[in-house]
Amino acid sequence: MQKYFKVAAVAAALSFGALTADAEEVLRFGTEPTFAPFEFSDQNNKVIGYDVDIIDAIAKEAGFKVEIVSMPFDGLIPALMTSQLDLVAAGMTITPERAQKVDFTAPYYNSGLSAVILKSNAGKFKKLDDLSKSRICGQIGNTGVDFAKKLSGNVAAFNTHAEAFMELKSKGCDAVVTDRPVNEYFLSSQKNDDYVEINEFAESAQFGIAVKKGNSDLLGQLNDGLKKIHENGVFAEIHKKWFGTEE
Ligand code: GLN
Repeated sequence: MQKYFKVAAVAAALSFGALTADAEEVLRFGTEPTFAPFEFSDQNNKVIGYDVDIIDAIAKEAGFKVEIVSMPFDGLIPALMTSQLDLVAAGMTITPERAQKVDFTAPYYNSGLSAVILKSNAGKFKKLDDLSKSRICGQIGNTGVDFAKKLSGNVAAFNTHAEAFMELKSKGCDAVVTDRPVNEYFLSSQKNDDYVEINEFAESAQFGIAVKKGNSDLLGQLNDGLKKIHENGVFAEIHKKWFGTEE
């Protein structure tokens, strides 16, 4: 019985290989699309953003296609480890703990953390330490929440950034701590000026694209692609498109 399954599996693998030999490979690109401007859904529910453009540009250079798979942020690394995804680009900070579980490309974006608060509280919270008695919101499994826990004993972690910002709006928490560009995009997308950013920034960070540990072929393709899009100016164009500034 066991032998039969093995033979069948080999046959299936062979025919799959033969079928895909001519067609372009489609890689599963995992992300969590509530992290504007890096990845978020447009009005038609299409996932767009800086990371999406970077991956598309690399894919074009490397000759593969991608399909986007959306999932909670804390599910991305486990999904890579169990081969449910081929690559992850999700504004993911390269950390030593994560680098033990997955492999990262060269950094492609420099970030850091900040806190958004209600403008009405601007007098009360002038620096990050002023949040020590506050309830802070963030997203489960991310570096913002880890940092918030160092600031305060009262941290609420949500599945999505959308929920964390909703909680701030409804005054369920005093601050959202996350990557600075995401907080600043939130501020710029508000029609009112009810929110401000505390003028202190923490933990400079670098984002990398992650692959399953040991997948050196794909890691090499991604690093080569990154290098090429730096050289041909596409990387700079994408940066300008989403951040309005030169790198
Ligand atoms: N850069 C942060 C991290 O890696 C947040 C990423 C995210 O929430 N998408 O933890």
